Amino acid sequence: MNCPRCSLPLRDVTPDLNMPDVHGLGCAQCGGHWLSQNDLHRLEQVVDVSWVELRHIPPPEIQAELLTCPRCSPARHLNKVQSDRDRKVVLDACEHCHGVWLDGGELHAIQEKGFVSALLDAVRFLMGRK
Ligand SMILES: [Zn+2]
Ligand SMILES: [Zn+2]
Repeated sequence: MNCPRCSLPLRDVTPDLNMPDVHGLGCAQCGGHWLSQNDLHRLEQVVDVSWVELRHIPPPEIQAELLTCPRCSPARHLNKVQSDRDRKVVLDACEHCHGVWLDGGELHAIQEKGFVSALLDAVRFLMGRK
């Protein structure tokens, strides 16, 4: 799978000792991560996400770019899901495979503010939409 922003191959993120069962895919260039919906659920229970390099959340014009799902074939566009709790955080979610793309910094912001549940609601809403 390639990064939806940089088109570079995503690499397995070395699992942190605190969360040995969580395997994500990360982009070395932009710091983004691809997570399955399952991974997001797991992250809810994790306090320390030190495996994620801390970066700034990209500016709105970058987040507004339409991205293509790195997993699905034929290609599908990812849907923008804005968090009600923090409008700076815009997720890209795939209606088909239910994966979520987090730009560099977003995963940390989500974890720190403790609103993974709110985001999951948004993703569920999106997935239920036809
Ligand atoms: Zn990238
Ligand atoms: Zn997909």
